[in-house]
Amino acid sequence: MSYPTQPTASHFINGQYVEDTAGTPIDVIYPATGEKIATVYSATPAIIAQALDAAKSAQSAWAKMSGTERGRILRRAADLMRERNHDLSVLETFDTGKPYQETIAVDATSGADALEYFGGMAATLTGEHIQLGEDWVYTRREALGVCVGIGAWNYPTQIACWKGAPALACGNAMVFKPSETTPLCALKVAEILVEAGLPAGIYNVIQGMGDVGAALVTDDRVDKVSLTGSVPTGKKVYAAAAAGIKHVTMELGGKSPMIVFEDADIENAVGGAILGNFYSSGQVCSNGTRVFVHKSIKEAFLKRLSERLDTAVIGDPQIEETNFGPMVSERQLEIALGYVEKGKTEGARLVYGGNRLDRGGFYMQPTVFADVKDDMVIAREEIFGPVMAVLDFDDEDDVMTRANDTEFGLAAGVFTKDLSRAHRVAANFEAGTCFINSYNDAPVEAPFGGSKNSGVGRENSKAAINYYSQLKSVYVRMGDVEAPF
Ligand code: NDP
Repeated sequence: MSYPTQPTASHFINGQYVEDTAGTPIDVIYPATGEKIATVYSATPAIIAQALDAAKSAQSAWAKMSGTERGRILRRAADLMRERNHDLSVLETFDTGKPYQETIAVDATSGADALEYFGGMAATLTGEHIQLGEDWVYTRREALGVCVGIGAWNYPTQIACWKGAPALACGNAMVFKPSETTPLCALKVAEILVEAGLPAGIYNVIQGMGDVGAALVTDDRVDKVSLTGSVPTGKKVYAAAAAGIKHVTMELGGKSPMIVFEDADIENAVGGAILGNFYSSGQVCSNGTRVFVHKSIKEAFLKRLSERLDTAVIGDPQIEETNFGPMVSERQLEIALGYVEKGKTEGARLVYGGNRLDRGGFYMQPTVFADVKDDMVIAREEIFGPVMAVLDFDDEDDVMTRANDTEFGLAAGVFTKDLSRAHRVAANFEAGTCFINSYNDAPVEAPFGGSKNSGVGRENSKAAINYYSQLKSVYVRMGDVEAPF
């Protein structure tokens, strides 16, 4: 597969690529081979200031445009992303190592969905009229101002769009910082938005590590921070944003439960467990990594799971047949392999995989542990790799308590043919995003986000508008003012 057109500089500010080699160099590594494919430079204080100034000075004119005009630009960008899906997907695969088979179906396309959805919604964003006798109040739905987006490395195109599209639809400007591990894709999103007619300065991308993110979060020019990342980073960013009373959206980690009852369709449950543990080599925040399987079907479930894992095509992610690629980095691979060792030491039964693959790049086998106990580390901590923990249960009340006994609350799934039970379990899950007889669907029309330590706020859907806009009430008196003196 040919090498895609790469971004031509590290940053995209005020409608154009900007380079500043004074920043710390960041090597971009192709996870399938470990080779360096590009170098970007971390934003210096001057670059950070340039991006924030550009956003601040462009934002009010953008907010004054009609929603129809703003939406048209976002929808044009969605069309461009779809036209260039192949090139964007190849780049996403170089950036993340995810198989092209996935990126062609999910990444630029879900980014385009967000641009199209919020582009369509921009013209419908209105306030309301509240009659109070002769007097009345009207509300204006207004932009927040300058929003900072900070991304994780697993879905760099999608995250850049999921944050950018609702922010821009509401009339905000954005400065986006991708993860240092996957810096390339967001630059292409910025390039496409400008080509679609976005005024300069409304969507800017700057590179850097946590220190650049921290500088953005604490800057007075910034009104809102939207982070996708781990819970520890979320706690730091939330606290820093609170010091400036800034709005926040926190899309954080998880250790989500999936419950497979005895009456479940085993093929579908196994399919759900595969999607919820091994898609993107397990590097998905909402993954259902604690799979509670009813004792009576456990061995049948494990047998079909192993048979289907044997058919995984592991290899070069640029080849269309490959459906399981490398982890994003050596570091992430080591973390996942470390958890495999912990699982073995704690006495869980390794039923599949567990090893690094003997080839270049950051590959490990899809891995399944059975007989996992609730207090084992592999059942409590987010691994963010292809490591599934299977736990037994035989009673619904008991498994609900165990499923909810976690600091996280991002997602949860249930497989059963019993309609009442399915909805009862979904209602009882302490999680923001639940699935019945399915796993990990994330259409732009549905709210996405976590409860408990997994986050604050919602992305996607009409709900996202509440996190990128604020209401102003305007009281209108029709008669005289009555004052006490
Ligand atoms: P991290 O929390 O390590 O980093 C997230 C982003 O925050 C990165 O861009 C990082 O920069 C930046 N950052 C780090 N420290 C700070 C700071 N003090 N101030 C501001 N920004 C900072 O997460 P990962 O990138 O490792 O991504 C994996 C995590 O993301 C998992 O926990 C996963 O569950 C979660 N996630 C959540 C999703 C959701 O929607 N709920 C979706 C996808 C992932 P840098 O890395 O460049 O140093």
